[in-house]
Amino acid sequence: MRVILLGPPGAGKGTQAKLISEKFNIPHISTGDIFRSNIKGKTPLGIKAKSYIDKGQLVPDEVTIGIVEDRLQKDDCKNGFLLDGFPRTVAQAEALDNIQEKSGKKIDVSLLITVPEQFILERMTGRRVCPSCGGSYHVKFNPPKVEGKCDICGAELIQRKDDTEDTVKKRLTVYNDQTSPLISYYKNNGILSEVDGTDAIDKVFGSISNILGAQE
Ligand code: ADP
Ligand code: AMP
Repeated sequence: MRVILLGPPGAGKGTQAKLISEKFNIPHISTGDIFRSNIKGKTPLGIKAKSYIDKGQLVPDEVTIGIVEDRLQKDDCKNGFLLDGFPRTVAQAEALDNIQEKSGKKIDVSLLITVPEQFILERMTGRRVCPSCGGSYHVKFNPPKVEGKCDICGAELIQRKDDTEDTVKKRLTVYNDQTSPLISYYKNNGILSEVDGTDAIDKVFGSISNILGAQE
């Protein structure tokens, strides 16, 4: 199964992606995670990406598309994948369709997690992430068992640099301008499904499981 997760920053894509990936046994590919691990490793890609990410802007298409194309060629993507945070522009969506077409495959579902803007700021500024294993928490809505420590690996949780109020506002503008046109793009392709992301995490996951379960 080939699945795309769509939705504004803070919709819960990363949170749901971890659960989906485990249940449906497909690799979770997050372009944000790929950039962050390159930033941590101070690679040329990381240095380039950081200058955009810290400002709440998108990393240019020509950089991002190449990364995803390479990743999708890996063996673990043969039977499907879950894309989280890609595509984020119409050019990226078109490139993804071309990549799929070349290998005679197609995207099965583009899953939109809808969350109105008034929820986003609290979700993003309360997000805490594990720099070691990528676990994601919320100080109020999904707190770790021990305050400030990752449940999975015990590492000290951090706040992402792009989760400050100012940068979140910029990211929302970028989402509205550049990413939200993908909703019509996938509606027109006939593969858009929608879930209400304002419900609790396990309830959202229940709705997603019903949609994806019907695809298997
Ligand atoms: P995204 O990957 O879409 O940017 P995340 O999955 O990282 O979003 O979620 C953003 C923040 O909101 C995290 O702190 C997460 O714990 C919290 N969160 C995710 N889903 C929900 C939900 N259904 N209800 C409340 N908080 C949520
Ligand atoms: P995320 O972890 O998905 O919230 O992404 C964090 C940041 O990485 C975004 O705000 C962008 O700056 C960058 N990024 C992630 N995915 C993409 C993408 N598909 N295209 C461009 N930039 C991206």
